[in-house]
Amino acid sequence: MFAYIKNILSQKCPRCHRGKMFTHKWYQLKYVVAMPDKCANCGQRTEIEQGFYYGTGYVSYALTVAFTVATFIAWWVLIGLSINDNRIFWWLGTNVALLVIFQPWFMRTSRLIWLSWFFHKDDDKHKKNNAL
Ligand SMILES: [Zn+2]
Repeated sequence: MFAYIKNILSQKCPRCHRGKMFTHKWYQLKYVVAMPDKCANCGQRTEIEQGFYYGTGYVSYALTVAFTVATFIAWWVLIGLSINDNRIFWWLGTNVALLVIFQPWFMRTSRLIWLSWFFHKDDDKHKKNNAL
């Protein structure tokens, strides 16, 4: 599990854990989800079929909801959520700003999580179909 999370965070190929999965830096927003056609290390294709990444919308949604819940709890514990002095609205604005700032990371991470559900470490099951 630790290796899985570490691999997701390092943005490496879910199959070989070595090849980089994105061609540009995360702050180059025009290319934020630009991926090579296949892993430079093991040859795993990154887009198995047209529209393969549509499902990442669900993963991204789950990630952003989890992030929002985490910031809500952190704000509640550390600052408090009194409605009288608008603290809850400061949380809301801060959370929206953080979601916008981290959007490239959410998009990339949801793609990697999505890919990792189809390909696993040293998985040769799809090699014949997808490696070439
Ligand atoms: Zn690979």
